[in-house]
Amino acid sequence: MPLSGLTDYHVHTPLCRHAQGWPLEFARRATELGLAELGFADHNPMHEPFDDWRMLREELPQYIAAVQDARAAFPDLPIRLGLEMDYLDGSEPWWETLQTLGPWDFWIGSVHYLPGGVEVDNPKYLSRYRDEDPELIWSAYWKQYERCIRSGWFDFVGHPDLPKKFGYRPKGDLRRFYAPCVQALVDTGLAYEVNTAGLRKDCRELYPAHGFVALAREAGVPVLINSDAHAVEELGAGFGEAVRLLREVGYSEVVRFEGRRRVAVALPEVEL
Ligand SMILES: [Zn+2]
Ligand SMILES: [Zn+2]
Repeated sequence: MPLSGLTDYHVHTPLCRHAQGWPLEFARRATELGLAELGFADHNPMHEPFDDWRMLREELPQYIAAVQDARAAFPDLPIRLGLEMDYLDGSEPWWETLQTLGPWDFWIGSVHYLPGGVEVDNPKYLSRYRDEDPELIWSAYWKQYERCIRSGWFDFVGHPDLPKKFGYRPKGDLRRFYAPCVQALVDTGLAYEVNTAGLRKDCRELYPAHGFVALAREAGVPVLINSDAHAVEELGAGFGEAVRLLREVGYSEVVRFEGRRRVAVALPEVEL
């Protein structure tokens, strides 16, 4: 059982229109990998029309039913129901409603959109990184990320240093971006994920970078490891590297969620 004792909570479904594999298929793969728990976190529905890479509001019941079908087929595997929420200013009234529309185990707070509408990780905005100083986009992103953390709506935050996706980074010590967000995590008691999708992108690095994880560990911020799988074969991908990083900076625990309550468990002693 290669991933025994670990969990993967950041998993997408075809309802977001850019992922493959239904919850049933992911659950089968999770049992093969020996994952202790599986969690779904598809992109949240928005006020429509919005964009073309998330489920529609009317598809929410289908999402919840697909997760429940997987639970019924794999009763020995705890399967958590979550959402990856796009942090956008002014969304609170919709979130009030959305939180009543499902038996949620966790909500991930993610920043894909900057104020003004630029999508940080969408290749259609690649020229912004190429032609402008990455410092500009990084500054705007981390400011918004801190607002996301401090909003108080989420259980943990997703892929902290997403703007490095295409491999463009500002010069100098990047801890100047990380430190205010680590402090915000301390102030709010939130957790963050180490997201292995970065290993599969041009940046070839976990989200977040070593420097962020080391600061967060020093500050006692809880963590969990997720794959951000958009296909069944990505489930649990890169977990060996993530576990090694967490051990290297001194983490001995990871967290799990049920009914939006967090519990800490020992980081498993698996050799990956
Ligand atoms: Zn996605
Ligand atoms: Zn995301």
